[in-house]
Amino acid sequence: MSGGTLPGGQVRLRVNEIFWSLQGEGRFTGTPAAFIRLQGCQVGCPWCDTGYAQRADEALRLPDESPLVAEKTASSGAWSAFEAGRLADFVAARSLPGMHCVLTGGEPCSQDILPLTRRLMEAGLAVQLETSGTEPLRCAGGVFVTLSPKARAPLEASWARANEVKLPVQTRADIERYEQKLAALPPAMVCLQPVSQGREATALCIQTCMERGWRLSLQMHKYLDIR
Ligand code: SF4
Repeated sequence: MSGGTLPGGQVRLRVNEIFWSLQGEGRFTGTPAAFIRLQGCQVGCPWCDTGYAQRADEALRLPDESPLVAEKTASSGAWSAFEAGRLADFVAARSLPGMHCVLTGGEPCSQDILPLTRRLMEAGLAVQLETSGTEPLRCAGGVFVTLSPKARAPLEASWARANEVKLPVQTRADIERYEQKLAALPPAMVCLQPVSQGREATALCIQTCMERGWRLSLQMHKYLDIR
């Protein structure tokens, strides 16, 4: 068993990496944060820049609860299974008090993250979840949910729970696909994010943000060449 529920009801999660950096995207751009990248995603976006976190390959599995996931110097498909409570404690013990903590992936909601989000919040961390919204969204009530619609459309319930929507944009069709949904949201909730720092996509995002009062998300970490 690589993830799922342990005897006694504890939840075990597949973790690709844990690291500390500045949040480079969306409303919290520039915020120091602990990142937990969970392993596994079946959405299959052609532009995915975290392909190494899509499949949980048994050949790349580390021992359970391996601190090596917090010591990676380069992206890789290596992963380790952590009991949810111990994962939260591991991260909280190495983070500043009250620090921002980002759950990302892969697709975090492809696993049961409810116990993890509860425990992180009990430890005093401010939790942000980055999700494609394609899986039922089960997390603690105080979690800030960043919905990032990807190749597969989000579930209706994900739109309703989102605290911000961060839309990857390659062409105008990406915006038009979700036009009705985006128009119904307060403008400050919407971020447009050019895919792969493309010049045309960036120009389109700037123009559209100016017209609509939306926000621009530039993946600051890529410009700074940090994680
Ligand atoms: S949802 Fe995210 S992790 Fe999954 S394939 Fe798409 S970009 Fe990659």
